[in-house]
Amino acid sequence: MAETLFSKIIRREIPAEIVYEDDDVLAFRDINPQAPVHVLFVPKTPVATLNDLTDADALTAGKLVLAASRFAKSQGFAENGYRCVINCNRDGGQTVFHLHLHLLAGRPMHWPPG
Ligand code: AMP
Repeated sequence: MAETLFSKIIRREIPAEIVYEDDDVLAFRDINPQAPVHVLFVPKTPVATLNDLTDADALTAGKLVLAASRFAKSQGFAENGYRCVINCNRDGGQTVFHLHLHLLAGRPMHWPPG
């Protein structure tokens, strides 16, 4: 896949407000937040989109979701609730082609989304 700015953030070549890191996942605040808490969870091993996941990525995908869940609990908004979103390709609204999970919290979310 073509490299994106998220790989540069992972390598600390461009700045970001990093809020969580483990061996497999980096999380940082979205530069254009859509909620009081808007954090992007990114696998350190790049995958472009949800379409590109294979069985070999099952652990990575699981760790992405678990990292978001743990972060929500650690920050104290898990009980009130939050939303996780993964956009895929054009109709999904994906603009950065390095798989990432949006965690949005701190306000009521509406459904259906726009
Ligand atoms: P998506 O549209 O799902 O691909 O989400 C990409 C997200 O990356 C958007 O919400 C952007 O605001 C966010 N974004 C773009 N550049 C940066 C950056 N340098 N640091 C943090 N977030 C960024």
